[in-house]
Amino acid sequence: MKISRIDQYAPKIRTRLIKITTDNGLEGWGETTLEGKPKSTWAAVEELADYLIGKDPLTIEHHWQHIYHSAFFRGGNVLMSALAGIDQALWDIAGKYYEVPAYKLMGNSTRDRIRVYAHWGIEDLTEQGLERSRDRLEHLQKNGYTAFKSGIAGKWRPHEPPSRIDQFVKTAYMMREWVGDDVDLFFDFHGKMTPSLAIEICNEIKGMRPGFVEEPIPQENKDSLEIVSRAVPFPIATGERLLSRWEFREILESNSVAFIQPDVAHCGGISELRRIASMAEVYYVHVAPHCAIGPVAFSSCLQVDACTPNFFIQEQVDAGLGNGLLQSDWVVKDGYIELPKGHGLGINIDQDAACRTLEFEGPELGGDEWFHEDGSVADW
Ligand SMILES: [Mg+2]
Repeated sequence: MKISRIDQYAPKIRTRLIKITTDNGLEGWGETTLEGKPKSTWAAVEELADYLIGKDPLTIEHHWQHIYHSAFFRGGNVLMSALAGIDQALWDIAGKYYEVPAYKLMGNSTRDRIRVYAHWGIEDLTEQGLERSRDRLEHLQKNGYTAFKSGIAGKWRPHEPPSRIDQFVKTAYMMREWVGDDVDLFFDFHGKMTPSLAIEICNEIKGMRPGFVEEPIPQENKDSLEIVSRAVPFPIATGERLLSRWEFREILESNSVAFIQPDVAHCGGISELRRIASMAEVYYVHVAPHCAIGPVAFSSCLQVDACTPNFFIQEQVDAGLGNGLLQSDWVVKDGYIELPKGHGLGINIDQDAACRTLEFEGPELGGDEWFHEDGSVADW
């Protein structure tokens, strides 16, 4: 069996897909969506296709090593996202070839079902804002969710007055009151805080018992994260913007996080997510894979979640369930998704919906222009 063609598609906003086809007609799908740099990753896949055409798709590890090591300049989010999509597609082919879900080729399942969380929060305290939040919560609970994560709205300067902080703290406590004590609530600071502001806010919300705060500060400086972690009385999570084992090594060795969140579409694919999770196990760190894009990346996460002993919970945005690209959507029940049963990634792509490339206007994949009131650049 040989790889005979590689195609790319952009069928939806925030969704870039790769399809690898073999000479005996198997098709493997992967997702290469890279927020802010979609054209760069598209070009990287085209370059890598020259190497892959004519090769055996089943030597996944060998191709991963070749793609990672053959370029003198390694890593970076463009190459790693392209490699991630290719790796997903090769695991999809392998599962279809051996007629099993991909996780069965990685030691089989370590659990019976996969816990997921949805995005929900209280963005503003106006009457309309509260009504929107209540409606969304009701909708999600009706659809089986028992765990939620909220972002932290707006731009944040190095210092904010008490009224700004108090408003966020009030919403956090209100969320706990609305859902009760049996529900997991997480917060994502999106790397928008300085260490001192993050420590101040985390200490203010500790009484509502968050499961973790994600990216309390930007991801580049693990020493600063260690300072935050030591001063915060509940778990810290990070890692959606870290790539490969080599970037996770430093975070793990600093013992500053309880949860890591590698992204299967950026960190190097199913193969690398699995290896990062194994490294984390040594540090008693659990894995909550990041996934804020489309259903192919989400389905790839489920394969790793199924066979990873130190898996904690899977992030899921609404688009991850299917978004019109799968013949049938993933279903959440009592907070869980059943183990995938289909071969490969366990999905059947809707070819009519997926095999097309639309033009999108504006900063469709992040990288928006976002400034403070004095004109300086803000983290978004
Ligand atoms: Mg995040």
